[in-house]
Amino acid sequence: GAQATEVGTVIIGSGPGGYVAAIRAAELGQNVTLIERDQIGGVCLNIGCIPSKALINVGHHYRETQEENPFGLTMTGKLDWQKTQAWKQHQVVEKLTGGVAMLLKKHHVNIIKGEASFNDNETLNVVQEDGHQLLQFDDCIISTGSRPIEIPSFKFGGRIVDSTGALSLPEIPKHLIVIGGGVIGSELGGAYANLGSKVTIIEGLDHTLNGFDAEMTKPVIKDFKEHGGEIFTSAMAKSATQTDQDVTLTFEVDGQEQTVTGDYLLVSVGRKANTDTLGLNNTDIKQGEHGLLETDDSMRTSVPHIYAIGDIVAGPALAHKASFEGKVAAAAISGADNAHDIHYSLPSVAYTHIELASTGETPDSVAANQLDAQIIKFPFAANGRALAMDAGVGFIRLITDKTTKAMLGAQIVGPGASDLISELSLAIENGLTSEDISLTIHPHPTLGEAIMDAAEVADGMGIHI
Ligand code: FAD
Repeated sequence: GAQATEVGTVIIGSGPGGYVAAIRAAELGQNVTLIERDQIGGVCLNIGCIPSKALINVGHHYRETQEENPFGLTMTGKLDWQKTQAWKQHQVVEKLTGGVAMLLKKHHVNIIKGEASFNDNETLNVVQEDGHQLLQFDDCIISTGSRPIEIPSFKFGGRIVDSTGALSLPEIPKHLIVIGGGVIGSELGGAYANLGSKVTIIEGLDHTLNGFDAEMTKPVIKDFKEHGGEIFTSAMAKSATQTDQDVTLTFEVDGQEQTVTGDYLLVSVGRKANTDTLGLNNTDIKQGEHGLLETDDSMRTSVPHIYAIGDIVAGPALAHKASFEGKVAAAAISGADNAHDIHYSLPSVAYTHIELASTGETPDSVAANQLDAQIIKFPFAANGRALAMDAGVGFIRLITDKTTKAMLGAQIVGPGASDLISELSLAIENGLTSEDISLTIHPHPTLGEAIMDAAEVADGMGIHI
């Protein structure tokens, strides 16, 4: 057979899991080879987190120009969608992926463009444009990510798109239909509602934005419905037909069949792990449910020198989780002492028009685990900066241990939630108490001050409420 090239650490996939693992492994002195079949940066940078946030941002701005505000400023907005798309691709996505490519080069990571699969526990076959090569590795990190689930009755093509298609539509839809009101469907649906589309979300569960509780999602859903959004819950999408101009979806609610016609249909019903074409059967790697790989807390699979991270292992499919696990795996290969994936607060965010963020325990987990916890709220309506921004909606919720006052969890609904949540993760990770937060001087007037105010309420002595 062909001669195998010997490599040190080989990483399959260059998403936020793989590229971060590659840089960290190189920093730790490993000889690193990174294999990517598509674009450096993976889903997140190319067709996920980053381009979606770019469009969401444009949606915020556009909506501001389209509605009356209470502060007396009249704006008129005209959007050049081709420019929006070009900006998103060249000024945002390519700048970022180009930056990552530069960092990989700076750290002497050897990049191979090709598709990898296992021949055995020590060897990868990499299929490239002009042939293939065998790599014999010391250690391997699998970070091959995930792809949208395709349902046979809603095959992607034409006016039926997945999230990737929804990020690059040729025009702003007049009426976008979305099957699946999870975070991705709600974020993209919300962005297009802000851009002027009518948006209809069809959700199978009895609520959208699964993962965030009803008290949190209430203002988000209200806002969405007030801005061109429509939601059917406990609704089953059945079939779709498309013509050159439109697409019609048949769905069932309360035993009644209904149809809705729009110009595009986004199917966002979940993602599938990219583990099915890796040749795992040629290895001793144990596979779990839904194609996910099982690991220990150092991200080791059942083959100790092969690691798995990101969307292909258990837990929420989030970029920051993938990156954290990548650093853990790289450290484990070097035998470094921070080689364990032990954390108490994995933050998650929904970038809906009114943002949602959660870290650590939630009221539901407190109830489920019968924790002796105190749960308090502080509204943004009592925060000067939020009012000055005309954004006095939502609240901060803190969950503390009743006895020790240690921070256990936090949720934020409202302005800046995605950025504010990290202070609370820091507190949880480090065992800080509500008093540690309330005794920290927060600058006035800021949105973050609401966290200090909330902590005072948790201490039993709120000033601003
Ligand atoms: P991926 O990013 O999926 O990267 C895997 C890479 O491996 C890909 O580049 C792929 O081409 C490559 N690959 C696969 N198989 C092979 C093979 N056999 N050989 C060679 N290469 C291979 N997460 C957040 O945290 N925040 C967000 O705001 C957010 N927004 C999102 C918005 C959208 C529209 C989508 C779709 C996702 C979003 N996510 C978000 C989720 C996030 O993108 C993923 O959790 C993250 O990308 C997972 O990283 P990963 O490294 O595991 O895999």
